[in-house]
Amino acid sequence: MDSNNNMSGSRQKSERGPQFWKIARVTCQLAGTVDIAFFFMFHFLGSPILAWINVVSVAMYVAAYYALKRKQNRFAVRLIWIEVIVHSALGTVIIGWGSGFHYYLLMFIPVLFMTMPLRSAVFSLIGLWGYYIGLDVLMWFMEPVQPISSGALLGVHLFNLSVVFGMFSYLAYFYLGMVLSAQHKLRRLATVDSLTRLFNRRQGSFLAEKEISRFRRSGQPVAFMLLDVDHFKTINDRYGHEMGDRILAEIGKLIPAQLRTQDLVARWGGEEFLIILPGSDIDSAMVSAERVREALSSHDWKAATGITMTVTVSVGVSELCKSDNMASVISRADQALYRGKAGGRNRVEPEEVSA
Ligand code: GH3
Ligand code: MG
Ligand code: MG
Repeated sequence: MDSNNNMSGSRQKSERGPQFWKIARVTCQLAGTVDIAFFFMFHFLGSPILAWINVVSVAMYVAAYYALKRKQNRFAVRLIWIEVIVHSALGTVIIGWGSGFHYYLLMFIPVLFMTMPLRSAVFSLIGLWGYYIGLDVLMWFMEPVQPISSGALLGVHLFNLSVVFGMFSYLAYFYLGMVLSAQHKLRRLATVDSLTRLFNRRQGSFLAEKEISRFRRSGQPVAFMLLDVDHFKTINDRYGHEMGDRILAEIGKLIPAQLRTQDLVARWGGEEFLIILPGSDIDSAMVSAERVREALSSHDWKAATGITMTVTVSVGVSELCKSDNMASVISRADQALYRGKAGGRNRVEPEEVSA
């Protein structure tokens, strides 16, 4: 991998995802096609110099496209840069500022920030600004080299403006997709336990509080299950910590498979799981808990681990009541779990009914 303080393109490369390069390839195809259209258009409009410039442009886009395919990304990006900078200036100088060729330069503003470290982007931006202003001022003082009719100029202007509009929209859409997918990844990282793929403890607490609030509003029952793997320390000691991890990951798949989609499963601690069952009272939660216990104890662990073994769990179950908060309802499930352990493990225990 690239070192961190390498400010060159290789670092930028690592910051841009494969999707970016796909977009770059599509852009080359689109820009090449537009330039082929320009070739015929400018012949027709009476500007042969500009027409032949487009042949060079198409060749540059073809080269950039194949460079991107061969992963020569830096070379491709340079080609595209040079093409746009030179082409927009030549188009402007030959048929005038009114052609709108300069709009293409503006497209670089977002691209710079998306593709470069901030410092380089700011310097390039200042350079781009100077170039743009320079071109504008230059055209105040000089006549176009090969002017075309005003009607044709308006046509070219509107065409260029529309292409830039379309490309900006495409870029914005792509950028939005990137932001949303990054947001999604971050949210997963913050809420999901990487080993079991279940919710982590923080998200478990958050969801429990949410269900408690809903209970206070609607009065719909909510049950809690606390599930702990029996003698897990022995499993670790006997088969190794890595095998222990594999078993936990498998349990992470087995528990939700026995529950309804609205039930929420979180890894509460090392080998302990909190399950929230919205809409379930204690009786139906006991049935669900028994189903989970049974599924785990009868599971074919040989298929998952290569070793014939038995893994059992003990489960404590409680139902939320009006005077409860999160700590009290989980504590009652924990006490029930403790009784399950004391009573011989591999069993489901309901909370004790208070007077
Ligand atoms: P009990 O039936 O009373 O629950 O016995 P136990 O051995 O399961 O309980 P104890 O709390 O003594 O041990 C839990 C073990 O779980 C100890 C710890 O090393 C192990 N453990 C906790 N988190 C992980 C993990 O992420 N991976 C692995 N492999 N082991 C873990
Ligand atoms: Mg345990
Ligand atoms: Mg435990």
